[in-house]
Amino acid sequence: MGNLPRELLCDVASRLPCVADRDDAADVCREWRAALETSPSPKLPRQLPWLLLPSANSTLACCLVCGTGCAIGHKLKGMDGARYFGSYKGGWLFLAYDQFCSHAVVNVRAPHPERTVLNLPNQVVCRQRQDCHDIVILAATLSSQPDDKICIGAGITLQWRFVVGQRQMAFWMMGCLSAISLEDDGTGEGDQCDPLLEPEDVLYHEGAFRFLTNGGHIRICTPLLTEGGDLERIAHSVSFFNDVLVEMNGYPVIGRYLLSSRESLLMVVRFGIQSELKTGFRVYRAVHNLVSDDGATNASSWCELHTLDNRILYVGRGCSRSYEIEKLGHEGLEEGIYFSEDGFFNPTVMFFGANDRKYPCIDNGLWTEFGTTNVQRCFPMQDPSKKSPPVWLLP
Ligand SMILES: [Zn+2]
Repeated sequence: MGNLPRELLCDVASRLPCVADRDDAADVCREWRAALETSPSPKLPRQLPWLLLPSANSTLACCLVCGTGCAIGHKLKGMDGARYFGSYKGGWLFLAYDQFCSHAVVNVRAPHPERTVLNLPNQVVCRQRQDCHDIVILAATLSSQPDDKICIGAGITLQWRFVVGQRQMAFWMMGCLSAISLEDDGTGEGDQCDPLLEPEDVLYHEGAFRFLTNGGHIRICTPLLTEGGDLERIAHSVSFFNDVLVEMNGYPVIGRYLLSSRESLLMVVRFGIQSELKTGFRVYRAVHNLVSDDGATNASSWCELHTLDNRILYVGRGCSRSYEIEKLGHEGLEEGIYFSEDGFFNPTVMFFGANDRKYPCIDNGLWTEFGTTNVQRCFPMQDPSKKSPPVWLLP
């Protein structure tokens, strides 16, 4: 099949709107891959994140183009049984093969995902105290593609010895199997910090990892490298923000997400009551360093938005994204926030025995109406999973 004319291959590709199908076509042989990679890409809709929904024996990959039968699903077979905790662009999936250990990142879009497994740390070292503890990673992101020569990862973690304790931050050089913690610089890291500074989400933005906290503040963690390119330490500062509303129609805050959009940082606050399947959102844009009349610099502030202005947001820990509707090429998309059940809601489920482990998989959907908890259930409603909460896989 390698000698099919290039025009014919382009014609085939133009009939494959889902990127997973085009990946499969590229996997046929080297000639097809070269042709599909070098040909001008046909005017196809842009791929949006897949929702991975783990069920009893397989993982459904829900795709806006294919529905729940997306071809990316068959590439997930080798990862059945793992707990997923996020993704990185290019089809990289963060997972823990043994629920609370054996962390790794795997490229699900590769022809053979099992050959792209890159191990992640299972322990954190505190250099100051010279001690070392086992960790569980709850969410993660990276400074660049994980197979780049220099790539740094950052995670929101729990230490095993404090399973019901605070979430913490950990950092690592890809390829290194120990993470480092922040050095105690007087800002309250260490084993316990101010609850308002406990990390809730992480984003890599403008050269630093930015951790959104319980109190709606941002902790800025900049990796500093040695001349040899090793991770020397993390410079840390806190950008304090004003308070925002903590309820919506009587529903409390259940999560906060940080994402970059149109060169600004957005905080998406999620409200609701899980048992009632109620979910609503407020969206805020960061406005930095207001200067008051007397010239003093005040805290940064969150400015509430009342429209998404032709954007679609996906919210997930470490992997939220903002898309401009007009650049996507999909028919009939409406602005709104796609959300899924969140592993942070049940951080200790992973420690339960297999028969008691239940990750809810039902509260996924699209929210479009500001000021309400009305949502569209556009994904399959399914029973809890013994393996993993749902996550977004970034294309
Ligand atoms: Zn698809």
